[in-house]
Amino acid sequence: MTKTELRKQILKLRDAQDPVRKSRADGAICKRVLDYLIDNHISTVMSYVSFRSEVDTCGIIEGCLGLGIRVAVPRVEDTYMHFYYICSTDSLIKGYMGIYEPVGDLVRWHGSEHTLMLVPGSVFDRRGNRIGFGRGYYDRFLADHTDITTAGLCYGFQIADEIQPEEWDVPMNLVITEESIYGGLR
Ligand code: ADP
Ligand code: MG
Repeated sequence: MTKTELRKQILKLRDAQDPVRKSRADGAICKRVLDYLIDNHISTVMSYVSFRSEVDTCGIIEGCLGLGIRVAVPRVEDTYMHFYYICSTDSLIKGYMGIYEPVGDLVRWHGSEHTLMLVPGSVFDRRGNRIGFGRGYYDRFLADHTDITTAGLCYGFQIADEIQPEEWDVPMNLVITEESIYGGLR
């Protein structure tokens, strides 16, 4: 199966997920992520803002803010992502492709220690290889910021046995699902 076919097949399953099951899995992933952040003394989280059937990040973002962990979320500017710190999910409005993005007078993420980036994706394998959405946004960002620790978030059924990465694909340090956590801090 090609990367495009595999992406399409898994996204179809993700879109068709039962809402009750999805919400339960989102809760389990949220708990796993927050526990991980606390256990590893993470002080800054860079998180995508969930869109359509992606693993929900609202609970994670609110949970981080409640714990005093700084949160930066992306905004697409001229086909490149920039991350901005937010104090609440209320300050997000629909932007690129209908994805909620931060607006207003914001502070841009400028790199800091103990940062974990939560990365969305279509398909992952247990070694951290990732198939995104075919536009390479995260591969391009991560190629420019090689010191960021990354965690791909997905549901268990999005895990494939093996993904053959392309030369520009940046693998994740961790992959977190409702059932497991694969990999570890670098
Ligand atoms: P995704 O990871 O979103 O599934 P791909 O890995 O297929 O997408 O990448 C999409 C496109 O982005 C590719 O055509 C690739 O050439 C481009 N790309 C990825 N990483 C880089 C990079 N570091 N510099 C320039 N272009 C890149
Ligand atoms: Mg890629």
